[in-house]
Amino acid sequence: PAPTKMANSLVEETKRIVAQFDYTDDDVNKGVREFLRQMNEGLRKDGTSISQIPTYVTGVPNGTEKGLYMAVDLGGTNFRVCSVHLNGDTTFDLTYSKVAIPKELMVAKTSKELFGFLAKQIELFLKTHHEEHFEAHVRRRKSSKTAEGYEDENVFQLGFTFSFPVQQFGINKGSLIRWTKGFDIPDTVGKDVCALLQDEIDLLHLPVKVAALVNDTVGTLMARSYASPGKTATLIGAIFGTGTNGAYVEKITNLQKSVDGEYDKSTGEMVINTEWGSFDNQLNVLPNTPYDAKLDQDSVNPGIQIFEKRVSGMFLGEIVRLAVVSLYEKPNVSLFKSLSSNSNDEQLPLFQQWGLDSSLMSIAAADTTPELSTLRQELDSQLQIRSASVEDARAFKDIAYAVGRRAARLSAVALGGIVIQSGRLKETKDEPVDIGADGSLVEHYPLFRDMIYEALRSIEGIGAEGAERIRIGIARDGSGVGAALIALVAAGME
Ligand code: ADP
Repeated sequence: PAPTKMANSLVEETKRIVAQFDYTDDDVNKGVREFLRQMNEGLRKDGTSISQIPTYVTGVPNGTEKGLYMAVDLGGTNFRVCSVHLNGDTTFDLTYSKVAIPKELMVAKTSKELFGFLAKQIELFLKTHHEEHFEAHVRRRKSSKTAEGYEDENVFQLGFTFSFPVQQFGINKGSLIRWTKGFDIPDTVGKDVCALLQDEIDLLHLPVKVAALVNDTVGTLMARSYASPGKTATLIGAIFGTGTNGAYVEKITNLQKSVDGEYDKSTGEMVINTEWGSFDNQLNVLPNTPYDAKLDQDSVNPGIQIFEKRVSGMFLGEIVRLAVVSLYEKPNVSLFKSLSSNSNDEQLPLFQQWGLDSSLMSIAAADTTPELSTLRQELDSQLQIRSASVEDARAFKDIAYAVGRRAARLSAVALGGIVIQSGRLKETKDEPVDIGADGSLVEHYPLFRDMIYEALRSIEGIGAEGAERIRIGIARDGSGVGAALIALVAAGME
C-alpha cells in the first residue's frame, strides 16, 4: 500500500505544480490590455517599461528590391561577414564567413583593437569573395587623390548588426550604452559604434560604407517582409531564442515622444524596437510562481527583463529545473529514486543553477511514446539521472509542458497586443497580417506556434476569425539579408 500512496502523491503534487503555470484566456486578455497600455506609454515618453525605441527605418521591403549589399554581425562569440545578392523576386543569394572573436579583443584596452580586427575581417572577405570588385576599387583609388569621399557606385552599402544596448540617433549612428556578454572595453562606451567601424574600414581603404545600424529584431522583420508570400508587408519581427524581443511597424502619428535624429517622414511609418523583454517589470499582470520569483532573485539582474524571464530559451529550462527540484524535495513524493542513495547528488546538473537546458523541454514534448524512452535516455545523458522511471519522466514532461505552454501563451500576449495596436485586422478585409519569427524556441519547440495561435483566438479584438488571418512564418537570417535590406533602405534615404 505504501508505494501506491507515494505514486499517488507524485501524480497529485505534479498536478499541483502544473496548475501553478496555468495562464487562462482571461489572463491572456488582461495581459494584452496591459501590454497595449505599456506600449503606448513607451511611445509617449522615455524611461518606461517597454522602451519603444525608434529605429529610423521608415519602410519595409516588398520583395522586389535588387542589388548587392553587405552585412556584418557582432553578436557574441562570432563575427559574421556576408554579402547578399537580392534578386528582386523575394529570393536572394548569400555568401558568408564566420570567425570567432579572440577573447583578448573582447576585453581590449582600446576600441581600435576590436574594430580594427573587424575591418580586417571585412577586407579578407572582400579579397576572398569579391576579388574583382576589390581590385577594381584599389586601381581606381590609386589613381584618385584622396581616399575619402570617393563617389563610387561600387561602394558596398553595409548593414551592421550590433547586438548590444545602443542609444540610436540616426539610421547609421548609435552610441554604446554598455557592453554585455563578456565584452568589456570601457573606451567604447558612449562612442558611435558605426563611426568606429567606418574609421577602421577607411584606414584600410575598403570600398565599404556603414549605412545602417541594425537591431536583430528589425533585421528579422525586414528579412521576412522581403520573402513573405504574396508580397505582404510584414508587421512584426519577433525573436524567441536565447532572449525575446520584437520590432513592428508603427504609425508616426502615434510616436509622440521626441526623436533625436533626422528621418524620412513621407512614409508615415517607422519601425519601432519594442524591447518587450522588459514588459511589466513591475509585475502588474504577469504570473509569478515561486519558481519565477526564485529565478529572478538569483539572476544577475533581479527585477529586470521580467517578461523575457518567463518566455525565452535562456530561462525556461531554469524554471523547469526549479519546479522539478521542488517536487523532488517534497517529503511524501518519490521522484528519481536512484538519486537518494548517493552523497554526490548535489553536484548533479539538476541541482545546479542553469543546469537544465531548455532544449530538453523540446525533447520531452516530442516524446509521445508510452515508455518515454527518449526522454528517460536524455534525463540520463543530460542530467545524469540514472534509471528514471516512466512515472518520473511523466512528471518531468508534464511540468516542462506547463512551462512551455505558458511561454507560448505569453508570447501571444505580445504578438496579439501589437496586432491590435496596428489596426490591420480592421483596416483590411482579408489580407493576412504577417509576422516573421526567429529563434530556437519557435523553430524547435513542438507546437509552440500552435499554442500561440490557440491563445490568439481567445483575445478580444482578434478571435478565431482574426487569428486565422495572422500568419506567423519563420524568418531566418535577419542579421544577413535583413541587415542588407536595411542598408538598402538607408542608401535610398540619402
Ligand atoms: P540566439 O537567440 O542566441 O541567436 P537560438 O535561437 O538558437 O540562438 O536560441 C538559443 C536558446 O534556445 C538557448 O537558450 C537554448 O537553451 C534554447 N534552445 C535551443 N534549442 C532548443 C530547443 N530545441 N527547444 C527549446 N529551446 C531550445
